[in-house]
Amino acid sequence: MKKLLFLFIFFPFILMGKSVWPLGEIWAEKNGESAYPNKTLHLSGTQQNKEAQAEKFVIAELQNFFPANTNLHADFFKIGPLGTYISYTQAFFGTSIYGTSVKINIDKNGNVNSIFYKLAETRNWPQKSFPAVADMERIKAETGDFIISNKNNTWFFDGEKAHAAFVAEYGANDGSKHEETVFAANDYSILYTIDKHRYAGGKDSMVRGNVFYPDPLTSSRKTYGAPYADTDDSDKPELNYERVPLEMKVTFEHDSFTLRNEYSQIAEISSPYTKHAFSNAPFFNYSRQDDRFEEVNATYHIYNYRQHVKKIGFDTLGKIPLKVDPHALNGADQSEFDFFQNDLKLLFGDGGIDDAEDADVVIHEYNHFLSFMASGDNGYGSDRLAIEEGLCDYFACSYSKNISNYNWQKVYNWDGNETWNGRSCVTGKNYKTDVSGNRYKDGEIWVGTLMEIQDEIGRDQTDAIMLGTLYFTAKNMTMPTAARIFIHVDSILYGGKNTLKIAQKFIANGLLPDTFMVSVPDKIKNEFAVKINAAYFSSHNIVYAEFDQPQTGIARIFDLQGKELISQDFYNTNKVNIYAPQITQGMYILHISANGIQKSAKLLK
Ligand SMILES: [Zn+2]
Repeated sequence: MKKLLFLFIFFPFILMGKSVWPLGEIWAEKNGESAYPNKTLHLSGTQQNKEAQAEKFVIAELQNFFPANTNLHADFFKIGPLGTYISYTQAFFGTSIYGTSVKINIDKNGNVNSIFYKLAETRNWPQKSFPAVADMERIKAETGDFIISNKNNTWFFDGEKAHAAFVAEYGANDGSKHEETVFAANDYSILYTIDKHRYAGGKDSMVRGNVFYPDPLTSSRKTYGAPYADTDDSDKPELNYERVPLEMKVTFEHDSFTLRNEYSQIAEISSPYTKHAFSNAPFFNYSRQDDRFEEVNATYHIYNYRQHVKKIGFDTLGKIPLKVDPHALNGADQSEFDFFQNDLKLLFGDGGIDDAEDADVVIHEYNHFLSFMASGDNGYGSDRLAIEEGLCDYFACSYSKNISNYNWQKVYNWDGNETWNGRSCVTGKNYKTDVSGNRYKDGEIWVGTLMEIQDEIGRDQTDAIMLGTLYFTAKNMTMPTAARIFIHVDSILYGGKNTLKIAQKFIANGLLPDTFMVSVPDKIKNEFAVKINAAYFSSHNIVYAEFDQPQTGIARIFDLQGKELISQDFYNTNKVNIYAPQITQGMYILHISANGIQKSAKLLK
């Protein structure tokens, strides 16, 4: 196990002279309002004089703690109506140490009210001088087009060793960005990032965690092989470099952040029993060898995926803090969603490559949970199980393809090496001829077809229709039935506007009969009545059409010059929501065609 990044010790009201440096601990913190009831300090002269006088006082007071070769750099000075307040950063051989601080508060009468400090023990640091000059071009390459408002040399202690580093503060004047990042001086890798305007205490807090996004092969655009290989979960600089600091919501309690939010919570369910992540700072930074890295990775990807689920309208589905054990199943080379005795949990195994290092595994397993929440345990029948594995692979593929197109056709880009080869979310199989009875092989037909549909109608709509379809699944459901339900859900969510495009893909892969789109149920009459509601056309660019009987056809909107503005298919539905593009004020013509009959209506914007 690695040491904690920050270890804070609280010494209540002890006299400094009697204390000793706590061996083996790096950071110490002390505070107390009346810690120095009998000490006075009368400052005089310029601000600089006062800072130097107070520095001398602090160093004398903290002499047993104060490491050799360090001094204090004043970074804040204020005289208020009640006293003088000075804060410092600790410096090692003249360069500031990131995250250290000393604050001394002196009242108007010269009584030292309090000293708060967080100091680094530097006695064993090997460096003696700061080795490098910052290359601003490399820093700008990382910070993008934002304004760099501050840049300094700094020492950064990562819990094990001190790095020479550069700290840059950067942002935008419109308030959209304000961050501070610490870059290692040797390779400009990111050691630490803090969002300066989002840090808030309280129950829920936004923090950052270093994670793979979505996995180290995709982000580096590399194929599997040293150094981009598991090598027994060891730290390789190339792999650690692929970690990126991303934002997620966690819980802040008892002065520290823990990996729990409304969607997941880290839990210890089965062996191996590992150390759990918490942080005093709003940043979770573990190398990939550290067991806590997978906790951060799983928490982040579930949180990030849930932001998407929320955006497409399904936030109520499975909104519970699901238990997640990123190192479970006694080290097996598998992962699972389990609902034994209705105790819902995600378990990830460490066999082969640690499963929770790969967002594809996290998202796949998480969607088994959503499927369970939508329709319970109905995993019976080979087709139904194939749909289940296929839809979970689909969501994994959809999620990571949205992050990067690189090698998107493979599911489990990182985990699917060493002990197995992962799966594919592209299929050349046809349901009529290629079903094998193996749920994973047959599931490829489902995921492959959905990815083809996504190419036609986009990720948000395909994901939303699939999430909606989860509520309709049943034991022993076949893939063709699921395909019809998928089309039905499109009619519920989108008025059937995607039906033709969806049906074409299901037909092409053998999931629906070739005659599906041309067969018209007998009960549909040729003539039809349609009610047009254009009340929201002007404000929201929507027109509602309602038929007396289900209809299949096409709706178009033209301008007065006869130019077609939109064309929208609908299938076997009573209601169609027709979405117009952003158009200028004026008169437009709605044209509805079904069963060889045409109807028109004027629209006023
Ligand atoms: Zn599965």
